[in-house]
Amino acid sequence: MASIIYKTKDEIEIMRQSALLASKTLGMLASEVRPGISSLYLDKLAYEFIKDHHAKPAFLGLYDFPNTLCISINEQVVHGIPTNRILKDGDIISTDVGVMLNGFVGDQAYTFEVGEVSPEVKQLLKVTKESLEIGIQQVKKGNRIGDIGHAIQTYCEKRGYGVVRELFGHGLGRTMHEKPEVPNFGKRGSGPPILEGLVIAIEPMINMGRKNVKTLSDKWTVVSIDGKPSAHYEHNVAVINGLPDVLTTFSYVEEALKLNTILA
Ligand code: MG
Repeated sequence: MASIIYKTKDEIEIMRQSALLASKTLGMLASEVRPGISSLYLDKLAYEFIKDHHAKPAFLGLYDFPNTLCISINEQVVHGIPTNRILKDGDIISTDVGVMLNGFVGDQAYTFEVGEVSPEVKQLLKVTKESLEIGIQQVKKGNRIGDIGHAIQTYCEKRGYGVVRELFGHGLGRTMHEKPEVPNFGKRGSGPPILEGLVIAIEPMINMGRKNVKTLSDKWTVVSIDGKPSAHYEHNVAVINGLPDVLTTFSYVEEALKLNTILA
């Protein structure tokens, strides 16, 4: 079994550039998401953007995935394949992007609102994003991986949401999926210790209804079993001087969304 690959400070600085390119890609997409476009359109924009930045789309071809982005609409949890389906007012799209730059990957996800979404859905998005921050707070020397999942699970279940059990966050580095697995649920004090140089992707996948999911016949798209909406946010986090250093950022997305509101 593979073991955890800890990174040097120099390697983490290279990874920060990969992570930031993933963040910038999401920021570019944020200004494009609106009713009337397709997820395939966003996929093409992301492909061009990543190429223009001298990087490679890291999902494309990974386990034979056919596209640059995973775009999961409404009840789709993760791994949705971009299609010509037209996005409607009130939809949400969980958009996950992976890039490979200078030999290291960046991997980030954000759930975008298409037009105006219902207050219930807004609340799901808010809580899921907050749970990511709460998980990140557990990334420190002396804690264990299980502390991250425990914090996320407790926060979301207290608010009545389902925490997906089948899919995890993960270590990342020169490849997309390294040890350790980073579940969004778990027991306090369980799992591998959090040590200097660890780099992980934390990515809560939170359902408005039941926690259960299934995979569609396309063998990729994971959906909530009760058909209720699901949200997904992801950051890449390194341990530096015993504390979390978030390599990705939502600031590009937030800037773009602010601008959208002003222009609307
Ligand atoms: Mg990931």
